[in-house]
Amino acid sequence: MAFTLSKDTLRNQISSILNCVVVLSAVASISFVSAALELNEQATGLSSQEQIDVVLNGKFTQGALLRGQAPVGAKVTLNGEPVQTNKDGKFVVGFEREAQLQQTLAVELDNGKKWQRDITLEKREYNIQRIDGLEQKMVTPPAEVTARIKQDNINVANARSGNTDLDALFTRFEWPAKGAITGVYGSQRILNGVPKWPHYGLDIANETGTPVYAPVDGVVTMADDLYYSGNTLILDHGMRVFSTFLHMDTITVEVGDTVKQGEQIGTIGSTGRSTGPHLDWRINLGNIRLDPHTIMSGSPEQ
Ligand SMILES: [Zn+2]
Repeated sequence: MAFTLSKDTLRNQISSILNCVVVLSAVASISFVSAALELNEQATGLSSQEQIDVVLNGKFTQGALLRGQAPVGAKVTLNGEPVQTNKDGKFVVGFEREAQLQQTLAVELDNGKKWQRDITLEKREYNIQRIDGLEQKMVTPPAEVTARIKQDNINVANARSGNTDLDALFTRFEWPAKGAITGVYGSQRILNGVPKWPHYGLDIANETGTPVYAPVDGVVTMADDLYYSGNTLILDHGMRVFSTFLHMDTITVEVGDTVKQGEQIGTIGSTGRSTGPHLDWRINLGNIRLDPHTIMSGSPEQ
């Protein structure tokens, strides 16, 4: 995203990206069968009338966002750490790119009754690409822009720092744009031996001007032009879940606007350090970077 590459390198990159998409969709189809998995397990030592109902929706893989439902008022923990629940007992957990594979989810009622389940995440294989012999100026940004990049990062962190009680995140996400998937979550380039920041987005390529829609309801927390990501739009979907859209040509909403699912929020572009028009869609749970693909089924229609 941030570098100019030779045609050959680009060709290699595209073919490895295609390989990666195949691997990912195989994972997706297996896991999709188990989506909406209902974990109605009987807690040890309790009779069947006293079982605790917990529902956990999503794909059990690294990079996944899982949405759950526990009894109202229950305490939820992940690996012993408290998980926020809303007034309906709904909660959300996320697993980063290299998350440990063994996770323990526990639910405890007011009366002390407990439910616990070990979750084994599927290990992801990410596309790692080594490129050597690059001119150094292409590997590190020029000194005169480092202050701007620093400020951009602070602004982005602020735009994703809220924790609202919106429950838009519990509705089914729709594809934010039509196009072809040309980049996936987790892939990483190693330039002149230096591992660069992994790619955390899902790239949907289409012509400049192609409409971009809100995947679910949200509130705009950033609409700004940044050095790397160009015109950047962030939507708050509630409970620390955010969508970020990079490289947009136009943004047609403003900070503070409430947008509805399916409402147009701008257009696809190639602003910032981008090699061609595409929408780079990211999902965050607070500062945990998650894979939008893990909450979607199929692919964006073209
Ligand atoms: Zn991208």
